[in-house]
Amino acid sequence: AWTSSKPPLLRFLNACHADFAAETGGAVADYIPELGKADPAHFGISLATLDGHVYEVGDTQIPFTIQSMSKPFVFALALDTLGAARVESAIGVEPSGDPFNSIRLNAENHPFNAMVNAGAIACTGLIHETKGDGAFEYIRQALGRFAGRDLDVDDAVYASESATGDRNRAIGYLLRTNAVIKDNVTSVLEAYFRQCAVLVTARDIAVMAATLANRGVNPVTGEQVMTPYAISRTLSVMTSSGMYDYAGEWIYRVGIPAKSGVGGGILAALPARLGLGSYSPKLDKHGNSVRGIKVCEALSSHYNLHMLNRS
Ligand code: GLU
Repeated sequence: AWTSSKPPLLRFLNACHADFAAETGGAVADYIPELGKADPAHFGISLATLDGHVYEVGDTQIPFTIQSMSKPFVFALALDTLGAARVESAIGVEPSGDPFNSIRLNAENHPFNAMVNAGAIACTGLIHETKGDGAFEYIRQALGRFAGRDLDVDDAVYASESATGDRNRAIGYLLRTNAVIKDNVTSVLEAYFRQCAVLVTARDIAVMAATLANRGVNPVTGEQVMTPYAISRTLSVMTSSGMYDYAGEWIYRVGIPAKSGVGGGILAALPARLGLGSYSPKLDKHGNSVRGIKVCEALSSHYNLHMLNRS
């Protein structure tokens, strides 16, 4: 079992960190100008086990913005807040085959899934329908329950994305004309931009992932954060669509439900086993952290963790 009495795991994570720190390929995202200021040398790996032990190697205390890693948690929150029927009638669960920021909707004029921007903006819009101006605060507090601590927002990244986020606004208007969003688009988008700018560390991401792996119970605080239904469906969509246009390759090779964000984070949650959080800001052509991918590949192969190769 993955318990805290496993010192070889720390040795393994240290070896991964040492090996992959030499990997300098990729580029820091700068389409949100403020993200371009990230230090490309930063590299942190954290792994949380379901008995609440958290391993940390490297820069695991450096805050960075959660970006698209917020999407699974806000989808789970929408399922539990509005009920599955409402959410599932508005947002699909099929892979899109398009980039994360695509403006294309499915044949019903709904988002393909909640892991691409259109679906995530729709989730935030659903929460906005019931919480109004309190939507972002409601989301921030829920993210904090997954992390086991109160999370702040990076105001500079928020302002930078809001200033340059016209493509996401365009998606918002398209959703509104198709009645997927019913509220004021500007308010929904501001909540979405703030949600993407929530600050986390690699350690936070590991605990958040472990909460997903633990049927919604945060293994550090013991709190049942979401229902098992919301968690299992969130993991399902992460499995099919969590890693941008690399999702198929990812589940084939690594076999662990995951989500990455353009801030350089990768979150991986292996049900009943562990949660992993990594941070390294240089991204590959798919938008996934170069070092983070290497860490997950190594972890999966070293410990034989592919979810469809379990005994
Ligand atoms: N806030 C980013 C956007 O909407 C998130 C993108 C991502 O991490 O994939 O463009």
